[in-house]
Amino acid sequence: MRNTARRTRENRTITVDFRSEATYVQLLDDGKAFLECILAFVMALGFQLKHKATCRGGGCLTRHSHYARVRLGGLTIWRIQCTTCRAVFTVLPHFVLRYRQMRPEVARDALLATHGGLSLECCAVLYHISPMALYRLLCALGQQSLVTVLTRCGLALPAYFLADEKHSHCLTDKVYLPTIVTGRVLWHLGYTTEASTTAFTQSYQAFQRAAVDQEPTYRVRGVLTDGFDSTTKSMRTLFPGARIGICLRHALLKLPKKLVAIASPVRKALRTQFHTLWYRVRRRKHLRVFALGQRLRHFVDHVTATAGAANGERVRRWFQDKKAGWYAVLEDPQMPVTSTLLDQAHNAIERKLFMMKAFHHPGGHQQVFLTGLAHLYNLVPYQRRAQHAGQCGVEVEGGGVPTRDWFLNVQILTSGGFR
Ligand SMILES: [Zn+2]
Repeated sequence: MRNTARRTRENRTITVDFRSEATYVQLLDDGKAFLECILAFVMALGFQLKHKATCRGGGCLTRHSHYARVRLGGLTIWRIQCTTCRAVFTVLPHFVLRYRQMRPEVARDALLATHGGLSLECCAVLYHISPMALYRLLCALGQQSLVTVLTRCGLALPAYFLADEKHSHCLTDKVYLPTIVTGRVLWHLGYTTEASTTAFTQSYQAFQRAAVDQEPTYRVRGVLTDGFDSTTKSMRTLFPGARIGICLRHALLKLPKKLVAIASPVRKALRTQFHTLWYRVRRRKHLRVFALGQRLRHFVDHVTATAGAANGERVRRWFQDKKAGWYAVLEDPQMPVTSTLLDQAHNAIERKLFMMKAFHHPGGHQQVFLTGLAHLYNLVPYQRRAQHAGQCGVEVEGGGVPTRDWFLNVQILTSGGFR
């Protein structure tokens, strides 16, 4: 199974917005104007071209060669070259997709329908393409890492984030999707066939490496998990010194399961009291950690008195196990408190995977496919009646996108030739 992207040579393709096909065709006859247009476009984005490692990019660009794309009715595509390092960039006009015959407007509609949860098969029927072509298109987008695309949008690497795994299936096998979220954006969506610390560490390490690649001094301050052992351990391994907290909402959901063989009204009353405890502790900003320890002890006494010694003991042991993670949340006001936004991201991705038979194929390219879906999650704007109507996740989190056209943004941001 191939879960990682293979790359035989550097992809230095850049997608350039020429506004219209007519403008592009006109510029093909004027080499100087063509180059100026590209440089102006790249500069307006605030991007730089990805030259070879030894080149500082100060040299000149020349038109290098051109070729005609037979599948696109003989459209001319130009390549440009750096005169210093000889790096060659393929310039794709905005109305062409890399290696694909599919028109961008068809791809845009099909991807939007996919993002909305329609199956690959239905999208294929609606837009007269093959399901495999759509699958491959998503995989192509997924060649570019989430960290690269999000930092291109001006988002800072997250000092605090949520980490958890989605349990899914590949045919009859259980699989896991290790995920990192901050607010409305996905920073990592991995794929493993095991739930071990080693497997999760390997997956999350892809994020850590990409992040350190971007910013060598990158440090994580805090991580919120649901308290699953493999997750916590892999976070400690990869981000030593980070505070590892446990989601407070999960604490509330778990309590009733710790109380056995008691009448329902007693269980309900205890849950309400536990809820009040958290509410009070969170309101008291300074004494929060001290207050929590004391209140947890009182609560155990209360459980023992109302629900019996066995329940009291079970709750005490559970508190003992989790309280370090709860303290970690309360000690730092910037720590996320609940993992709700991560659950939402997982639900959104799950709906798509459920509809996609191609995903449930042991020989598929799961990792790049998931990354492609994650790009859509970050870059497709919310619908008109949503809370953040018209904005995409990246914008909600304070990032910027190159244009008002989300699909053009996906094309530009997943281009390989930018730095
Ligand atoms: Zn160069």
